[in-house]
Parts: sequence; structure tokens; C-alpha cells
Amino acid sequence: MADVVTVLAMAGRLMATADEAAALDDGAVPHRHERIGPDCPLDCLDLSPAVPNALEWRFKHGKGQKIRTVGDLVLLVDSGELRRVRMIGPRRHGEVCTALIAAGFSLYISPSLRR
Ligand SMILES: [Zn+2]
Repeated sequence: MADVVTVLAMAGRLMATADEAAALDDGAVPHRHERIGPDCPLDCLDLSPAVPNALEWRFKHGKGQKIRTVGDLVLLVDSGELRRVRMIGPRRHGEVCTALIAAGFSLYISPSLRR
């Protein structure tokens, strides 16, 4: 597992570098960061679309606050709420945790929610 996280983290850095190079080429001004931080938009985690879609559904149906940033998502995981979001199964939950850990966040995941 540690190896997978390391590889993902390296891939993230490579992709960020490639994005910056592309941005210089076409003059666009994308979101820039040294590393993913709590204030980054969810886009920075490069999650599969199902995750932001599920979070948007949850918000639109009045089941929780809008999740705008990576920091919001960390709190959602830490509180155990992510696991209860409709359309977030163990696989998506794992994807989110892996992405956050690869980005350098420490997560508290209660033992009953670990898989
Ligand atoms: Zn960012």
C-alpha cells in the first residue's frame, strides 16, 4: 500500500508539472499550487467524476454542506460522513482516502469505517 501511495504521489507531481508546462504554452491561468492544500478545489485531487457528483447530489438534496475544497473533504472523511453519502461505496471511499493521503493529509478514519 505504501508503494501505491508513493507512486500516486509521484504521478500527481508529474501531472502538476505537465499542467504548468501546458499552461505556459497556451497562456491560460489555471489553479496553481506548490502542493495540494486544504484550500485547493476538489479538482486538484483528480478524483473520478462520481465523487464530486455524489457530493453535489448530497448538497442539492439538503443532506449536508457544499463541499468546495480539499479541506472540506478531509473533514467529511474524518467525521465518517463521506461513508454515508449516497453513491459513495467502499471503493469510492477508498479512492478519496488514497487521494488525500497521497496529497499528504493525515486522516482519522474510525476503526468501524476502515476496510
Ligand atoms: Zn490546488
